[in-house]
Amino acid sequence: MNKNEALTRRGLAFLRSKEALVQNAKKTMAQAHAKRLIAVIKANAYGHGDVWAAKTLYEQLAVHDFAVATVKEALRVRAAFLKEDVQVLLLGVQPAEQAALMAENKIATVAGSFDWLRRAKESLKAEKRQQRLVVHLAVDTGMGRVGAKTEEELASMVDFVRQDESFELGGVMTHFATADDHNQAYYDQQLADFIHLVTDLDIPEKYWHLANSGSALFHADQVPTQTIRVGAALYGFNPADGEYALPIDLEPVGRLVGRIWAVHRLLKGESLSYGATYTAKKDEWVATVPIGYADGWTRRLSGMSVLVNGQREKVLGRVTMDQIVISLPEALPVNTEVTFIGQEGSESISIEDVARYAGTIPHEILTGISDRVPRVDVD
Ligand SMILES: *Cc1c(COP(=O)(O)O)cnc(C)c1O
Repeated sequence: MNKNEALTRRGLAFLRSKEALVQNAKKTMAQAHAKRLIAVIKANAYGHGDVWAAKTLYEQLAVHDFAVATVKEALRVRAAFLKEDVQVLLLGVQPAEQAALMAENKIATVAGSFDWLRRAKESLKAEKRQQRLVVHLAVDTGMGRVGAKTEEELASMVDFVRQDESFELGGVMTHFATADDHNQAYYDQQLADFIHLVTDLDIPEKYWHLANSGSALFHADQVPTQTIRVGAALYGFNPADGEYALPIDLEPVGRLVGRIWAVHRLLKGESLSYGATYTAKKDEWVATVPIGYADGWTRRLSGMSVLVNGQREKVLGRVTMDQIVISLPEALPVNTEVTFIGQEGSESISIEDVARYAGTIPHEILTGISDRVPRVDVD
């Protein structure tokens, strides 16, 4: 679907740029002195399209490693790369009972404990055609979600994986809790603990991966590996909005635009939308635009700015499930374009602006853009 079709049929389009994605990946790798990128494309590549992002990075930058969060995501990405030699890696806690399914589909996974490996082994044993399961052993250095907490546990996991035919060691990882804020001491401690464990156990550097966007961007000199494991930076937004400025120029990969589908006059004293929370102080022109919280334009964005013809207008009253009403400077034609996220002329509304207004982070807004919004390539 092209932009016009999307705007005609649905009145909405999430426009995405391959060029921006590729440039962001290159710049982030250069910043962190990295040679290998594990591209984090979980949650539909933060809303941009997981297979789209993976194919773009594979074709244009020869990226071979893609990280996702659920088995369903992993299977979809794997299906797009059936013959290619890419690694699809599951992050986070996974059901050990799915180990056979993972192995069979060449999906690698993070393994968080000795017990997990033991249960995964049961699942693998039950399968006849045995494929090895590639596991990346997690070390919990302070995130508190998943991973070995002691050297003894990590050592037992490494031994188990090295001695058991059903497994293959793919990596050893940890995840930073404070890479994008100013808790440097916490960051330093996590880094030191990880390096201590993996060097004690003689696990070579090529297996390590720990740098997320915050590390790659703001702690570039504290990335002890050639590998980075990055999401946010690829999509061109600042994961640390308000805490650190971006040290390099990243370009937003996505823009969210829509179309005015109705224009009408609101008379002084008339109200609109649920709760009738907005009342016109004078006669004014308003427009209805087909975006609502079911598209990911959350209810907290009542009152937020949007761009119309390069000017700032406002969301009036409550955001409803499927529609909003916006202010207009005058009676504009039906089908006039509206920008929710992106640049229009000299004005721009960034994803960081939208997230800040909604009291959240860009990740949550982007991953909330629902399937109802057509994704459209601009290049
Ligand atoms: C989501 C995630 C990442 C990517 O984080 P960004 O801040 O978006 O770069 C990396 N590693 C793990 C384990 C994750 O869950």
